[in-house]
Amino acid sequence: MCTTYVCAVVLEKLKSCGMTLKGEPRLIRLNPFAPYKTRGNGAVSFRLVLDNNQTIRRAKQIILDTVEELSQLNDPRTNPGVVFYQGPMTRDLQEYSMKTVQCMVTLEEAENLAQKIGAEIFKYKNGRGVIGALAAIGCPLPDNTYELIAYREVNNYGKVRRINEDSVRLMDHETYPETFDNLDEGYMAITPHTPCPVLYGIRGETKEALYRAQEMIRSEEPIERVMVFLTNQHTDMHLQAIDRIAGIEKYQCYVVKGVVNSNPHVIEGGHVIFNLKDESGEMECAAYEPTKRFRDSVRELAPGDEVTIYGGIGNKGTLNVEKMEILHLKPQYQYLNPRCDCGKRMKSAGKDKGYKCPRCGGKLTDAPKEKVEIARNLDEGFYEVPTSARRHLSKPLVRIRDESKSKG
Ligand SMILES: [Zn+2]
Repeated sequence: MCTTYVCAVVLEKLKSCGMTLKGEPRLIRLNPFAPYKTRGNGAVSFRLVLDNNQTIRRAKQIILDTVEELSQLNDPRTNPGVVFYQGPMTRDLQEYSMKTVQCMVTLEEAENLAQKIGAEIFKYKNGRGVIGALAAIGCPLPDNTYELIAYREVNNYGKVRRINEDSVRLMDHETYPETFDNLDEGYMAITPHTPCPVLYGIRGETKEALYRAQEMIRSEEPIERVMVFLTNQHTDMHLQAIDRIAGIEKYQCYVVKGVVNSNPHVIEGGHVIFNLKDESGEMECAAYEPTKRFRDSVRELAPGDEVTIYGGIGNKGTLNVEKMEILHLKPQYQYLNPRCDCGKRMKSAGKDKGYKCPRCGGKLTDAPKEKVEIARNLDEGFYEVPTSARRHLSKPLVRIRDESKSKG
């Protein structure tokens, strides 16, 4: 079951029992390249202020009962975990959380840390969810965004989502860039394409902007509930800066600078591939088909161009490009036949026979080719994938350009 929905139901139950939440619930996205993960690799956490052991026991019972009731445990990919922690934030916990967002951690590591700090864990099936649950508790948020999620009534699950598209365009017009990723090439991008309970999600900088946006969206189906999460989405928290290509490892995400070392080429399926190198080594980078028009920019790269690439390494060791900054375009040249005295570009007269003018018939036996700079269809600066291909954690350029929006 959608973790955010379980969280929303749990919180309603806890509140109806008079329990108080401290701050907003948090939606923490973990390493998008971890091989064992759920689709969005998200986990949620929240803080409760409880005044006695009896209330604590009651809260735990409500949470566990709800998780058991709502989890789709017959789905082989569903391995929920719940963690309870009473105590201060520790350095260990924060470091563990960052590792879970950027690298790989094992269930064993999560369990060892939980034991060390005195966190209580509950595993369902293989219980891998414990990894994310513990990370959601400990994740620092030097930068953050918010997401408002509206949920559907159960009888609408799996049906086409009915949202007035014009109202979403208007909302985007009125609230962007305080909200973002609402549209993709003019089409609605706030609705997911999976049969989950989410009707739509609006991403933004502040809760106020999200509530304002929500008021503008005309839903043509009932909304069961709405929840706002504080989140690490769109902060680039998954990316580690690395200065050696040779040090790059599978299943991790990086910001890496290098020089384009091959002409980009298109492979079957429409993916665009090129090589990037630095003094330490060389690696393959890809803009995959779902990145759509972003590929047009990648295809224009040429050997010698200096770029910074943002993205993660999949199981084949190829870096999936999410974003790139072109630092320097290396001038590219072509070599043309010389011009005739009459001004016309000459043609080859045959192997080792020099050139012949197609207009006046003039000949040249030994003349150098003319070096001509090729115009580039690319400018220095940032390029990013479209909204539809953006990973939850990727920071959109609108947040990079407006530094006041990046809280980190
Ligand atoms: Zn001529």
